[in-house]
Amino acid sequence: MKLAEIGEFGLIARFSGPFLRGLPPRTTGIGDDCAVLPWAGGRRLLVTTDMLVEGTHFLRAKISARDLGHKSLAVNLSDVAAMGGRPTAAFLSLAIPTDIDIAWLDAFFAGLRAQARGAGVALLGGDTTRSPGPLVINVALLGEADAGRIKLRSGAGPGDALCVTGFLGDSDAGLRILLGGKPRNRDEAALVRRHDRPRAHLAEGAWLARRAAVTAMMDVSDGIDSDLRRIMERSGCGAAVDLDALPLSGPLRRTAARRGWDTRELAAAGGEDYCLLVAVRRGAAAAIARAFGRAFGRPLVRIGTITRARDGLRYFSAGRPAELARRGFDHFKGN
Ligand code: ADP
Ligand code: MG
Repeated sequence: MKLAEIGEFGLIARFSGPFLRGLPPRTTGIGDDCAVLPWAGGRRLLVTTDMLVEGTHFLRAKISARDLGHKSLAVNLSDVAAMGGRPTAAFLSLAIPTDIDIAWLDAFFAGLRAQARGAGVALLGGDTTRSPGPLVINVALLGEADAGRIKLRSGAGPGDALCVTGFLGDSDAGLRILLGGKPRNRDEAALVRRHDRPRAHLAEGAWLARRAAVTAMMDVSDGIDSDLRRIMERSGCGAAVDLDALPLSGPLRRTAARRGWDTRELAAAGGEDYCLLVAVRRGAAAAIARAFGRAFGRPLVRIGTITRARDGLRYFSAGRPAELARRGFDHFKGN
């Protein structure tokens, strides 16, 4: 059997079973945005790690060293945001090809440092080694959260409103622009920036974690088409998504119109937006969305509803069933 048949998530499901049995009390293992461990004083320790591999996650010719430093930490901050936690300490491991310039590394660390300072994160260690091939960057991030306020992927139930905290599709549009050459105008530059310098929704995650009616959260890293399936698996439910409700930024709308791109495909299947996907109990959803709008000056956008497991993931447009041509990202399934 080849990896392409089971994919990234099939592989994780295949090996994780034995590691999930007999976990210590108050511990969440493989399968959420962060692992959760007991910690002092009614709090929990959060741990997450993400790897960026040259040629897979970035092209050195297409992203500045500074932006890559920023992004390496931001993608991990996003996983702590998805738990409703506060990031505290990072560990950075680098496998570096020998031809790399010291000025490049200085700029990488400047980007990482700025992002760490902004998030109140201390770099406490890591590992440095030579790479015979690509540049590989791994960040492990620790965080903390109040025990009663952690939001897992597993808490969603049928009837919950499904919401997102930001625009969808911008990052994937930025990637397409980069792969096709250079941004041609301000809109395209804005989309590329969204791809290169994602913002982790830490304040939004912490705010949502304080609402008891928020039942599940995760960050959008592979595209909602993929990420929503993770919530469905963990929560044992299905989901119905209104493709017309997916929030699109001005730069994305205008660029898609100029280039003839399908905004719904970008928004539903495009990855790396790093906003939060949130399930909220039906009765509280409208009030929480209003309060969110007041707190952040941006809407908490309702994109659908959690349904029963047997209904699976269904898309609608103009009230009718709709299909997506493209699936969310999986490292081994060749999308
Ligand atoms: P995220 O995108 O939030 O970082 P992933 O989709 O990459 O999460 O991973 C899903 C879950 O599987 C996470 O809980 C992650 O920690 C776990 N996981 C992924 N790869 C491995 C691995 N090689 N060994 C152990 N756990 C893993
Ligand atoms: Mg995540």
